[in-house]
Amino acid sequence: MSLETVMAPHTEGASASEAEGRLERFFSAFEGGRAPLLLLDYDGTLAPFQVDRFKAVPWPGVRERLNAIQKQKKTRLAVVTGRPAAEIAPLLGLDGLIEVWGLHGAERLYPDGRRELERIPEDMERRLEVLRRCLREDSFGGLFEDKLNAAVMHWRGASPEAARAIEERTRALFEPLAHQRGFNLLEFESGLELRAGRDKSGAIEALLAEAREAGPTAFLGDDLTDEKAFCALRGRGLSVLVRRAWRATWAEVWLRPPEELCGFLDRWIAACGG
Ligand SMILES: [Mg+2]
Repeated sequence: MSLETVMAPHTEGASASEAEGRLERFFSAFEGGRAPLLLLDYDGTLAPFQVDRFKAVPWPGVRERLNAIQKQKKTRLAVVTGRPAAEIAPLLGLDGLIEVWGLHGAERLYPDGRRELERIPEDMERRLEVLRRCLREDSFGGLFEDKLNAAVMHWRGASPEAARAIEERTRALFEPLAHQRGFNLLEFESGLELRAGRDKSGAIEALLAEAREAGPTAFLGDDLTDEKAFCALRGRGLSVLVRRAWRATWAEVWLRPPEELCGFLDRWIAACGG
């Protein structure tokens, strides 16, 4: 049985003192000397949303702090995003190279530029392509994003009425395939993604498996697609919801960006030796 079926998500935020206690315990474990692992979603977590997603640059203060963390050379830093991995480095604009898990974990871009892509079976690829062809011709007034392992519809910025219509037509197109083995439907803020392959929990599992000797591990995310990663990390690391407004979540700690996010990164820097 999966965690999702045996444990209810938190229905309200942990009290401020509970959250502070969790953070204190987490950062006190840095004294062990093992390399900490900092895993970060991008959109909504490190950067505020933009209708034009190629304009989504980090919140003020975030880039400087991530640069400082990289400069310390103590933390293993990775971005785990729904975007194609190559989109992250130019937006994030760090001084150093960074590891990125893209397409919700189906793609891995190493800091040295090597790239791995999870292959999906040919018949699934074909079925996905039929649907993508439809959307290239008519995207229902939304923004269609063509990914290697997925079809994504965005309606950020549309009026509520238009958004509803786009969502309805997209669901009608995606749902028959979503029920078939190997596919799943990801709901996120202002969009819907029909995809095949690994999700963010798969990325977290893979990262934890290869970093067995890692020190304290945290994953920060904002969206519904990050909840699977929060679940995957349970008992093995700190899960952090980064969001202006509270919502039910599996995450253990809630931070409001950018102030509390920057505060968290400052504590990270200090815990690694200042
Ligand atoms: Mg996000």
